[in-house]
Amino acid sequence: MKRIIQKYKFLVLLMMLFVGSSYAQQRKLVHNQIEFKQAVKQAKPGDKIVLANGVWKDAELVFTGKGTAKKPIILTVEQKGKVTLEGQSNLRIAGEYLVIEGLVFKNGYTPTKEVISFRRNKTHLANNCRITECVIDNYSNPERFETDYWVSIYGKNNRFDHNLLVGKRNHGVTLAVRLNTPESRQNKHQIDYNYFGHRPVLGANGGETLRIGTSHHSLTNSNTIVENNYFDRCNGEHEIVSNKSGQNIFRYNTFFECQGTLTMRHGNETLVESNYFFGNGKVNTGGIRIINEKQRVINNYCEGLTGYRFRGALVIMNGVPNSPLNRYFQVKDSEARGNTFINCDYVQLCAGSDKERSAVPVNTSVTNNLFYNDKKPDLFTVYDDISGITFKNNLLSKNTQTISKTGFFKQKLNFTRNAQGALIPTNTKARKLGFQPVKAKATPENTGVSWYPRREEDVRFNTGQVIQVTPGENTLFDALKRSKRGDILELASGEYIMTKSLDIRHPITIKGKNSKGKKPFIQFQKTSLFNIENGGSLSLENITINGKESPDASGNTVIRTSRYSMNRNYKLFIQNCDFVDLNINHSFNVLKVFKNTFADSIIVRNCLFQNVTGDVLSLNKETDDRGIYNVERVVLDNCTFADVRGVALNAYRGGRDESTFGPMVEVAKCSFTNVGRGKRNKTLAALYLHGVQEITIQGCDFKQSAPIKLHLVVGDPVVNINDCLFEKTPKIISNDPAYKTKNLIFK
Ligand code: CA
Repeated sequence: MKRIIQKYKFLVLLMMLFVGSSYAQQRKLVHNQIEFKQAVKQAKPGDKIVLANGVWKDAELVFTGKGTAKKPIILTVEQKGKVTLEGQSNLRIAGEYLVIEGLVFKNGYTPTKEVISFRRNKTHLANNCRITECVIDNYSNPERFETDYWVSIYGKNNRFDHNLLVGKRNHGVTLAVRLNTPESRQNKHQIDYNYFGHRPVLGANGGETLRIGTSHHSLTNSNTIVENNYFDRCNGEHEIVSNKSGQNIFRYNTFFECQGTLTMRHGNETLVESNYFFGNGKVNTGGIRIINEKQRVINNYCEGLTGYRFRGALVIMNGVPNSPLNRYFQVKDSEARGNTFINCDYVQLCAGSDKERSAVPVNTSVTNNLFYNDKKPDLFTVYDDISGITFKNNLLSKNTQTISKTGFFKQKLNFTRNAQGALIPTNTKARKLGFQPVKAKATPENTGVSWYPRREEDVRFNTGQVIQVTPGENTLFDALKRSKRGDILELASGEYIMTKSLDIRHPITIKGKNSKGKKPFIQFQKTSLFNIENGGSLSLENITINGKESPDASGNTVIRTSRYSMNRNYKLFIQNCDFVDLNINHSFNVLKVFKNTFADSIIVRNCLFQNVTGDVLSLNKETDDRGIYNVERVVLDNCTFADVRGVALNAYRGGRDESTFGPMVEVAKCSFTNVGRGKRNKTLAALYLHGVQEITIQGCDFKQSAPIKLHLVVGDPVVNINDCLFEKTPKIISNDPAYKTKNLIFK
């Protein structure tokens, strides 16, 4: 009995406490922006403003107030996942001790320069505030090169944690820490447990996922801590992270298949410690890039990173003597100690060495690291004098070529994978070198939010239903209209006539049914057959397309991109197809692209292009010479080009920007006969490659054709032209002789 009374007393006490606190602390449910404004105006420390469930359209929320450390003012939602900010929405916060949680931005884009800003205006900043469990999902401006930031952190002592940011597709940093006024410097921000989801290749500078500072303020300290974040395929450009200020700490983060590096671009005394980089052999995946002074790279784990040059697993750069703020400071007094690199392809020392970047690293050490790749002996690339780097006690695999008489030793190792997924040597002595396991590791599960679904939006073909299509007028048009993402339209043999253009708005495969019999035969009456619109991707297989029914006007095209900006990258795969008699008038193209469109990959295999009055692949519409281009990767494999008056492939990237690493072009086993000699072909070339970064031309025949023309710029493009025959075709024309050839025959 006594016990029951005691329990009862306790309950009463608890209830009194609860009632008491709810008197002092308001919980205000608001249903619209007017109620929200009112609630913000009246909010006192400890109050909670609750956004009602539903869609908040065009909601520009300004949340200001003064809470206290013990009693912050909280902005939250009725139910997490049930409140979305859509259309032209954004959030500005300013004041002290504000906490924001549970907001979701989707289906739209910010009308201003930021989605979430830690300031109301230039003078009214947020300090000691926290944004947690918020989501920004594909909230990208439809104009690819319209710049905005998703999150800008100003002020001091702010925390941004457990948020999910996925699918930034337009120009501009995903999350920026700003140091533009004294009130935002030495800020001690904390950025932790966030999930940075897939950021597709932008094909330009300005695709950073996280940037701290800018070159202007790079000699001041930020003191930001970035820890326990998960970076999932953050491929926007070669800086996943662009560190541009001093005394920041990056630790316990995971970089999963990210194309790029954690770059210490400006500022000194940054610590990069105990991070995981998993490349899984994916192209252009990188690790850590060191520039500037007193940088420490300690106890990181890197595996399967393939990136070359500025995207190496470990990159130590050359600097510019007396560098201006925005160029490259010399590496001084820096160290890389106790890191592990397993099956990584490139460690780059004195990277970027050229006439301007001539200041080699000094007083820098590389100690106790484990460099293990028993498949690739030339792991290290030395671009300049490395005498300013001291090497000590680094372990190499047996076959690895050493670059210094001292500081390296070789040993064959076996590994076991530990609970965090890292390979650890079984040899106890070797285990003391390289990465020492830490328990903290960011994973998709312990970052971001748990209550919001993570969709995979990467382009995938052949994941849907097969839809049968029979010959006739617009049967393909009707089938396409019924189709869904990833479906396969299977065409029976016969003639297809299209009086309408086909707008491709999702990934779709269009293929002839019998790979051995007669290919289905498509003719079209509009100026284009396929229009790849934003979100669309096209795979064509085993089809013949002919231009006889096309309008008797110049400039027809079989495939074109949207005329408007596309913020979604597309893929175009064509195999076993014939494109014939595209010659009803002049300048009839196979593919025509527009500005502000970008292909991740264009892969063409086993195809015939015959009697074409225009270009086959013309990817040259980014002409501002700012390092922007139209395609990341082009493959032409085992194709025949005959009587093509325009250029077979024109890929153009202008300017000297070094932030990206495309385009990459591979042409193999193709034959070119009478290609590129039409009087309207301004390139005067069969293949015109301007600013392309990787070129392989292998096993091709060029007969009575215009020459290959190369314009080699930016860094050192890798060019290999091997085993080709040139018959009644001029020699290769290039601005720079720095390209490699092997076994070329001219007749
Ligand atoms: Ca950049």
